[in-house]
Amino acid sequence: MDGKTVRTRFAPSPTGYMHIGNLRTALFTYLLAKKNNGKFILRIEDTDQERYVEGAVDIIYNTLRRTGLQWDEGPDIGGPVGPYVQSERMGMFKDYALKLVESGHAYYCFCDKDRLEEVRKIQQASGIAPKYDGHCKNLSKEEVQAKLDAGVPYVIRQKCPTEGTTTFHDEVFGDITVENSVLDDQILIKADGMPTYNFANVVDDHTMGITHVVRGNEYLSSTPKYNLLYEAFGWDVPVYIHVPPVMKNATEKLSKRNGDASFEDLAAKGYLDEAIVNYIALLGWAPKGENEMFTMEELIQEFDVSGISKSPAIFDTQKLKALNGEY
Ligand code: GLU
Ligand code: ZN
Repeated sequence: MDGKTVRTRFAPSPTGYMHIGNLRTALFTYLLAKKNNGKFILRIEDTDQERYVEGAVDIIYNTLRRTGLQWDEGPDIGGPVGPYVQSERMGMFKDYALKLVESGHAYYCFCDKDRLEEVRKIQQASGIAPKYDGHCKNLSKEEVQAKLDAGVPYVIRQKCPTEGTTTFHDEVFGDITVENSVLDDQILIKADGMPTYNFANVVDDHTMGITHVVRGNEYLSSTPKYNLLYEAFGWDVPVYIHVPPVMKNATEKLSKRNGDASFEDLAAKGYLDEAIVNYIALLGWAPKGENEMFTMEELIQEFDVSGISKSPAIFDTQKLKALNGEY
């Protein structure tokens, strides 16, 4: 790594349950930081108030503390350190979006709900994937100013290229190329002036100096749009490490919604904390040698991104039981 301090982050949305897949992402993120003498940052992504679940933040804190995944920094709140909470950082995002408008990488969109609905219907009828049609992309400066002066509500959208391709590298999935024609001019700032989840995520990763992004592979398809934002700002793109899901079986994902295995459930069944953490580390990550029993210190030593598998991991209670028996 090029001399920069490694800074990773776990960025959960407090939407309820923290299942084993979420905890595994946190663990890999932590191990990567510690292996490189870097920092592990916790950022609560709570901008989507509709999905916010009371008490979910406490589950995240408690699970991370109990499993030993202590985060390293946060705002000085005069108590235990951090973490960062996105909803407390709302002020700065719009200014960043306005910089992109200025440089031609974003634009004001004044379309109302009815028009967007109309566009969506037409696209649906012709079998086109729903996507903003670029209606406001080429408004002149004067037209924009007149609408702003008249108080017409607006959002700010990312201006994505429509031709050519965008390629990025992922440490697990390799080089990924998408046709720019599929990219949607996503909303960066909503009508209420607040950032969308995607925009806040990119700006926060940059402002927090994140060098490595570890997250679920459901974000792979959004990554080109994220990268275009980094480019537009002239920021360094982080190293991406997308991890495949943890599955209940070959077809069903572990999900918050179904209340599938969480750390708390497993601990309540009598599995030892260390055995659970050890087991989770082996979900989709293969150590180099034969040994499968590791303390946290040993995991830090052994962890290597090249051991992460592209295929989904299956949560296997038998294996956890066996490992638990060894402790
Ligand atoms: N907040 C997202 C989630 O909970 C994580 C996104 C990311 O790590 O970039 O799924
Ligand atoms: Zn528009």
